[in-house]
Amino acid sequence: MRVVSGIQPTGSLHLGNYLGAIRNWVAMQDSLEEGAECLFFLADLHAISMPHNPAELHAATLEMTAALVACGIDPARSILFNQAQVPAHSELQWLLNGTARMGWLNRMTQFKDKSGKNREGASVALFTYPVLQAADVLLYQATHVPVGEDQKQHLELARDVAQKFNNDFGNGEEIFTLPEPIIPPGAARIMSLRDGTKKMSKSDPSDMSRINLSDDIETISKKVKKAKTDPEPLPSEEAGLEDRAEARNLVTIFATLSGKSVPDVLAEYGGQGFGQFKPALADLMVESLRPIVTKFVELKQDREALDAILARGALKAREIGVPTLDAAYNALGLVRGR
Ligand code: ATP
Ligand code: MG
Repeated sequence: MRVVSGIQPTGSLHLGNYLGAIRNWVAMQDSLEEGAECLFFLADLHAISMPHNPAELHAATLEMTAALVACGIDPARSILFNQAQVPAHSELQWLLNGTARMGWLNRMTQFKDKSGKNREGASVALFTYPVLQAADVLLYQATHVPVGEDQKQHLELARDVAQKFNNDFGNGEEIFTLPEPIIPPGAARIMSLRDGTKKMSKSDPSDMSRINLSDDIETISKKVKKAKTDPEPLPSEEAGLEDRAEARNLVTIFATLSGKSVPDVLAEYGGQGFGQFKPALADLMVESLRPIVTKFVELKQDREALDAILARGALKAREIGVPTLDAAYNALGLVRGR
């Protein structure tokens, strides 16, 4: 079993990323059987598909590395690296560009969403983004790829690319493994603190809409206190949360952080107003995030340690990826010396 997943270093990690994705990465890392491997990478090459500020991308890549380690990704057990230090990602993408079809990419909804009305002005990288994503996982013969709902379509494309390449150039051999998606069962979808119908997001212009892993205790308390709610007390039963998106979100966060079920949380807090529930939630957040924040603050100042983690991860990633890259070059008939 080989698990491969990535995250774009744009902005800083928030509670939604942690509860929806990173916590599951850590659980996977911690539950792997002998011989299984996890590769987690910072998708810095993907980040240049949108207009970006180079200094910010540089800082965010290092900061996100510190955040992942603080969350529990252990560079001694998992392979943690950034794409830019493993040239095989870009090389394999070019090779796969020969196999991916325009029609397949034209169907990708992320390109339509992210390019919006300005299709002609979008970067070519934004269009071919899913091919780089295919290279990211096929390079390592990934068997399992944890993905959110939003990324399922891209993984499907990676499987199509792998299958066509194997058929067209494999000569009866499987050059690439077809990866399976894992949609983690316990993954919570965390919504914005300002609007319970929108997901918590790095790119939301309002910082009050999210809890960042870099927020201090006072900021967390302030954001929870100011979170949008309705005037009703909490219901005692889950059905009472219907049509109350903000209340549901705060209860979901409480349940996820405390490891309790939503009905258990409501059994405890049903009938109470937000004046009582919010301070309890803020305390729980601070208590849950404190060890992560402490480690994050310490590590993000240690540039040498971060460089070393990424360099070591990239070295291991290259070792695993290069035989597959070589096999792809050979299968295509490209001459590379002997
Ligand atoms: P952006 O606004 O730049 O798209 P984002 O906040 O959506 O940023 P991503 O880098 O796109 O974050 O996603 C990283 C991972 O976190 C993905 O696995 C994604 O499914 C997960 N994730 C993002 N937002 C949430 C959320 N609000 N709740 C649960 N999981 C989330
Ligand atoms: Mg996103």
